[in-house]
Parts: sequence; C-alpha cells; structure tokens
Amino acid sequence: MTGHTVDYLRLSVTDRCNFRCSYCMPPEGVEFKSHEEILTYEDMIFFVRVAVQVGISKIRLTGGEPLVRKDLSDLVKQLSAIEGVNDISLTTNGVLLPRFAGALRDAGLRRVNISIDSLDPVRFRTLTRGGSLADALAGVDAAFEHGLLPVKVNAVMLPELLQEVSAFAEFTRVRPVHVRFIEWMPVGSCGPSDAESVLSKDRLMKEFAAIGPLEQVGSPGGWGPARYFRLPGHAGTVGFISSMSDHFCGDCNRLRLTADGRLKSCLFSGDEVEVLRLLRQRDEAGTLEAVRRSLEGKTFDKNRVREMNSRGMSQIGG
Ligand code: SAM
Ligand code: SF4
Repeated sequence: MTGHTVDYLRLSVTDRCNFRCSYCMPPEGVEFKSHEEILTYEDMIFFVRVAVQVGISKIRLTGGEPLVRKDLSDLVKQLSAIEGVNDISLTTNGVLLPRFAGALRDAGLRRVNISIDSLDPVRFRTLTRGGSLADALAGVDAAFEHGLLPVKVNAVMLPELLQEVSAFAEFTRVRPVHVRFIEWMPVGSCGPSDAESVLSKDRLMKEFAAIGPLEQVGSPGGWGPARYFRLPGHAGTVGFISSMSDHFCGDCNRLRLTADGRLKSCLFSGDEVEVLRLLRQRDEAGTLEAVRRSLEGKTFDKNRVREMNSRGMSQIGG
C-alpha cells in the first residue's frame, strides 16, 4: 500500500434489491443471503467504531438497494453519533426515498446519489427490469425537498446512452442536479460482453460538447473521482467518472464492507478479508488487524482492473 489515506468506507447494508438492472444482476436475480449471514446494524456499528481508528471518517451506505433494509434511519443515527464519522451519504435507486428521506435527514444523512440510467420511461423499465422512472424522479424531488444536497444522479455509460445526451443535458438545464456518467465496469458476470461496445468517457463528452461549450467546474461536495462540467446557463452539471479509461487506482481512498461481512480494498480484485465472525464476537483487536490486513493488500495497481471478480455489484456494494 502507498502512503495515502484511506478515509472512505462503502458500507453495504443488504444484498437485496427491488430492481434487477441488466448490467448489475442476471434476469433471474441472484440468490440472496439468509438473515443469519448478513451483518446486523450492531455488527456494522462495531465495525465502524474500529474503522475510525485507522482513519475512516466518511461513510456511504449502499447495497443492493439500501432502502429495502428495515429501519435504515436507525443505523444512520447510530453512525452519526460515532466520534470520527463526519460524513454519511447514501447511494440508492431512489424509488423509496419519498418514504424515507425525511427520517434519514433527521437521523444525520447528508446527501444522496440516485442511480438513473435512462430518462426514457420505456428504456428505464427495460433496463431495471420493471422499475418506474416516475418513482425514481420522485426520489430526486424528495432529496431536494429534504435538503439532501448536493443531489447527484449516477448513470452508467451503456451504449444506448448516446441517444439520451440531449435529454440528460436538458435535465441539468432545468434542475440543479449533478449527473455523473460512470463507465461500465466488468465486475461480476452481467452487462456487455463485448468490451468494444462499451461507451467511453471521451466519446460521451464529445456528444455533450456538441450541445455547447463545457466549462469545467469544481466537484459539488468537494471531492470524489468525477470531473464536472457546466453547459452555459445550466442549473446543474455533468460529471464523468472514467474508471476504465483513466485508471484512478492511485487516488483510491476507499474500503468496502459487504453485507455478509467481508472487507474488500479493491473493487476489481477477488481478494476479500472475512470479518463476519470477528464482528459477531466483538473482537476489536482481531477486527483492527483484519482492516489493516485488507488495507495492506490494497495495491493501487491499475493492472488489476481486469482481474476477474465473481461477485456482482449488488453483492459487493458498488
Ligand atoms: N441500488 C443502489 C443503486 O443502484 O444506486 C446502490 C447499489 S448499486 C450496486 C451502486 C452503483 O453501482 C449504481 O450507481 C449502479 O449503477 C452502479 N453499478 C452497478 N453495476 C455496475 C457496473 N458493472 N459498472 C459500473 N457501475 C455499476
Ligand atoms: Fe439494484 Fe442498484 Fe444493482 Fe440496479 S444497480 S440492480 S438498483 S443494486
């Protein structure tokens, strides 16, 4: 491991999801873990108390779909009470946000990223295998209404996105949202099989630049791997995360804890350090040792990007 700080934990609270996005899950879904195999909130709190000792201060809740886990605001409240935790955010498909945004905000959630891969209701339904675009957009409204700011929208760069460049540009013209286009990553066994058909950041940026001059702006919220641009007069911005074409392994500041209690220091690596048993035993020294071991395995090596990883994003916590 190089000397730089790993201060960001992606905490997956469930492997379950109310969508089955075509690039994330197979059509038949994935076999969910049983209740007993999944960390309890108490296990997660114990883990975070240990992780702050090695410098973790920012936590992003993810999944699966984190909002399908019962009483998520209780977890947020307990996490925000931990000394050393100074930022709690959430990545969600948004459809349950209208129901939970207020309670989450009151519990200490700061902001959300909402995944919306298409602004076309039919394509959205096909991509998510049954999801409603109107419900996801209601999630965006709820995030604004409850001050979960800045509101970021994530869209995976699938080739069909090229037909929606003007729709996304219009979305950022009228709303102060920050749409981040993320290069599709070959994690798990779903999504495009032909690497050539994958859309790159450069190709997509060219399409946006054809709409108007792109002015580079700072990152809303201050940090992260995206580069952001504003089209003239637009309320929001477009950002590009080139996880594949520009490797940013050298800047990676993140650690992941999966819902079934395994640590992953690199999304692209199959290496996992099992901590479920240590957490259940509330073994502080053992957990600390496991975190250190996982971080030591973090190579910041761009060549690992194509290493095979059998678990999909919904199981890892993308
Ligand atoms: N269900 C929530 C959601 O969709 O936002 C949280 C979990 S999801 C696994 C987290 C993020 O990973 C989403 O923005 C999703 O689009 C992204 N994602 C899933 N599979 C991906 C892949 N193969 N490449 C790039 N991003 C991916
Ligand atoms: Fe579920 Fe998110 Fe994966 Fe879509 S991307 S299937 S919403 S976990």
